[in-house]
Amino acid sequence: MKIAIEELAGCSGCSIAILDLHETLLDIIEKAEIVYSPVLMDVKEPPEGIDIAFVTGAVRNEENQERLRRIRERSNTVIALGTCACYGGVSGLSMLSSQEALFRYVYQEVDTVSPDNIIPTDVPPFLYRAFAVGDLVKVDWYIPGCPPKEERLRQIIPPLVNGDPVALSRKSICSECDRTMGPIENWSLKRRHEGLPEREHCLLGQGYLCLGPVTFCGCGAMCPKNNVPCHGCNGPSLDILREPCRDIYNMMVLRIADMTDRPEKDIERELYDVAHTMYAFTMGSEVMEDKEITKIRDLIKEGS
Ligand code: SF4
Ligand code: SF4
Ligand code: SF4
Repeated sequence: MKIAIEELAGCSGCSIAILDLHETLLDIIEKAEIVYSPVLMDVKEPPEGIDIAFVTGAVRNEENQERLRRIRERSNTVIALGTCACYGGVSGLSMLSSQEALFRYVYQEVDTVSPDNIIPTDVPPFLYRAFAVGDLVKVDWYIPGCPPKEERLRQIIPPLVNGDPVALSRKSICSECDRTMGPIENWSLKRRHEGLPEREHCLLGQGYLCLGPVTFCGCGAMCPKNNVPCHGCNGPSLDILREPCRDIYNMMVLRIADMTDRPEKDIERELYDVAHTMYAFTMGSEVMEDKEITKIRDLIKEGS
């Protein structure tokens, strides 16, 4: 069996997540050969006849698009690995600024490897928007996560390589969280640095914006278990993906309204920086942007 790992617009963290499988990787390479991975080996082009290709990163420029086309053509099974590949991920946030503003910031306003502050002319041209991999080619499997956590990959990759069925939970982060709902009195939104969350009760109930109810499971509720609200890095829950009338923002407003008996309009007024709190990982997904009730379209228009 031949395995490839392709890199598009991302941080390479998803490829490193495969390396983080440690000794499980040794079992995998007994059955399969990694034939292409720009992070792990010096092979310039994916060969023909790949059985499983993991594609990481979003599609943001023409080079990403061409690499995606090529790996899809040469692979039997394509797996979108990581939230950038599944939903655009953090690369999608680039749609909040124009290309000119982004390049100016990266090459001129912050310290960079370009000490003369010259914007290079030989970088691949941007596409008009960021895309999730599945927006452009057929994807056989999606493994979200930024990056997907070791335990989740252990449940998926070895059975895939062995040709065995993969059985996974498809619930939300709340299903993996062991906090209980405490008393809710005078609920108001708190920023993360405000106070110290109490360790037993639901963070959302305490006023911290925890996206557990709208986020796909798979990390063992790692953040709430460490007293930090979930910020949604596994991408949307299955409910949200399936239902056209459900979106991350509107479901969080409804959830808080149910929990606190506060009018939805009041909650909407309290939620600030919706682009970075609600859509930090999904802005680049056409599937999410196409929902009638989403805020993504307006946020992109405002930003650019
Ligand atoms: S999903 Fe996260 S870890 Fe993976 S490439 Fe994107 S930013 Fe990096
Ligand atoms: S909202 Fe957050 S803290 Fe509350 S149960 Fe869900 S994951 Fe846990
Ligand atoms: S709890 Fe939320 S933010 Fe933390 S790793 Fe899991 S999905 Fe990501």
